[in-house]
Amino acid sequence: MADEFDVPESHPRYESLLTRHRIEAGVEKGITSTQGLIAEGRGEAFDYLLGERTTESADEAERVAAASLLLADHPVFSVNGNVAALVPGEIVELAEATGADIEVNLFNRTEERMEAIADHLREHGASEVKGLRADGRIPGLDHERAKVDADGIESADVVVVPLEDGDRAEALDSMGKTEIVIDLNPLSRSAQVAAVPIVDNILRAVPNITAHARELADEPASTLETIVSEFDSDAALAAAEEAIRHGDLQ
Ligand code: ATP
Repeated sequence: MADEFDVPESHPRYESLLTRHRIEAGVEKGITSTQGLIAEGRGEAFDYLLGERTTESADEAERVAAASLLLADHPVFSVNGNVAALVPGEIVELAEATGADIEVNLFNRTEERMEAIADHLREHGASEVKGLRADGRIPGLDHERAKVDADGIESADVVVVPLEDGDRAEALDSMGKTEIVIDLNPLSRSAQVAAVPIVDNILRAVPNITAHARELADEPASTLETIVSEFDSDAALAAAEEAIRHGDLQ
C-alpha cells in the first residue's frame, strides 16, 4: 500500500488523509516509529483547530526562518521518522535553497531506522545525509539521545528542528543554537524555546520556507538581518494560540 493513495485532491480532508497515509507508509517502510503515529494524531488535532491553513503569523515566521537560514554560517535541518515520511523531497529542496546540511536525528535511535531514513532521503535526491557517524554529543541528554555528528548539528549555528521533543529542544537551546521549530502545538516546550517557532503543518511549512528563501536569495545581509531582528517569537506563539482557541472553523 505504501505508494497507493487515490483520494482526489478535491476531497475536503485531502491533506489530512495524505498526511496519515504517508505516516502509515513510513511505519511500513521502517522509517517512522509507532510513537510517530501518536505524534501525528496530536498534530492533526491542532491542525484541525487551526483550520488546516498557514496563518498570517506562521507565514511571517516562515519568512524569518528563510532569512535566518540564508544568514547562517552552518545551518542544519534535523530529520526524524515523521519528518522523513512526510516531506522527504521538500527537505532536499529547502536544503538546496539555503545551503543547509541534512542530519537524521532520532528520539528512539536504532541503526536500522537511521539507515532506512538516510536511504529514503537519498531516494528523494539528498546527496549527503549526516547523523550516522554520531561522533558529537548534545550535553545534558542521555547517551543515545545525545548522539549527533560533530560536523553536523554539534557545530551548527542554526538548526531546524521539526516535531522535536521538548528535552532535546531545550538542550540545543542551552548549546546556544538558534532554533527554528516547526510544531503545530504552540504550547509545546520545543515551540516555547525556539528563536523562530513556526506553528504550521510541516507539509505546508517546508515548501513555504523554501519559496521565501528563493525570493530572499539576492537580498543583502542587512535586509535579512532586519527581517530576523524585527521578529517577535512571543507574539507569533500568542497569535497561534489565539487562532486555535478562538479562530473560525470552516
Ligand atoms: P514537548 O515535549 O515539546 O512538550 P511533545 O511531548 O508534544 O512536546 P511529541 O509528541 O514528541 O512532543 O512531538 C510531536 C509534536 O509534533 C506535537 O507537538 C505535534 O503537535 C507536532 N506535530 C505532529 N505532526 C505534525 C505536523 N505534521 N506538522 C507540524 N507539527 C506536527
